[in-house]
Amino acid sequence: MDHTPIKLSPAFKDYIWGGDKLIKEFGKKSDSEKMEKIAESWELSAHKDGESKVADGPFKGLTLSEYISAAGKDVLGSRSLKYSYFPLLIKLIDAKADLSVQVHPDDEYALTHEGEYGKTEMWYIIDCEEGASLYYGFERDITKEEYEKAIEDGKLCDLLRKVDVKKGDVFFIPAKTVHAIGAGLFICEIQQNSNTTYRVFDYNRRDKNGNLRPLHIEKALEVSSLKRSSDPLHTDKGDDVLLAECEYFSVRKLTVNNEAVISSDTESFVSLLVTEGTGKLIYNNGEISLSKGDSIFIPAADAEYKLIGQCELIASKVN
Ligand code: ZN
Repeated sequence: MDHTPIKLSPAFKDYIWGGDKLIKEFGKKSDSEKMEKIAESWELSAHKDGESKVADGPFKGLTLSEYISAAGKDVLGSRSLKYSYFPLLIKLIDAKADLSVQVHPDDEYALTHEGEYGKTEMWYIIDCEEGASLYYGFERDITKEEYEKAIEDGKLCDLLRKVDVKKGDVFFIPAKTVHAIGAGLFICEIQQNSNTTYRVFDYNRRDKNGNLRPLHIEKALEVSSLKRSSDPLHTDKGDDVLLAECEYFSVRKLTVNNEAVISSDTESFVSLLVTEGTGKLIYNNGEISLSKGDSIFIPAADAEYKLIGQCELIASKVN
């Protein structure tokens, strides 16, 4: 088995609400097409709807799943064994406009109805514009009838909990929580590997071909939690801070000031996503340069790595 950390290049999505920050501020570009806007870059993805690829080294050009087959399944670590496919999906999201109000099912519903896992997700706000906000569950406990009527009347947002956002905030969104990312937010999203989204309200917008995007109201009514949402997470200050932990993943924020050490183990791979600055990841017989937006996959193994430079990283592991 090959334990060498690898740099990944993302798959891109050009949804209607995307902006140009991934191109202009994060230097992302597609090999195959010229893109002026990118809504999402899938930085750690083995999902059939868009896989990351190995950017460098002996495995260069392989998709993440091809790399896992080539390097050996052990690179995933023992905790991944209980999942029938690659467990995480990590994205950068540039919301120039509002995203639809949506909800994701839990595992039980999604495996029955969609043939994939449900989606619990977490957002780390890398950057945001003045006055940006998002919707995070309901403001109070509601009934299914109220929910249905609000959708019908186009007044769903009145029932939702609107939260003001600032850089560095963290939101944990359990499956079944109705939510919407607001305009002006730039987010790192860590989630279960699923692309099942039930759109409840899309502000009556039309796509580039003049069509309304489909809604999935019946399924949304079946899966949405109708309880008042829990409070957003608050994070501590420090160089190594736990942002979120749940049955699927644990996520830390690391700040490197000249030098830091991270360790990996045989239970999970580590995904590193550079959210700010530049530096290097140094391992046994090599190094990988790090700059804002880079995604690194560290195979599961008992090992230590040195981080040097001035940067901030989001480090995610499978639970
Ligand atoms: Zn979502």
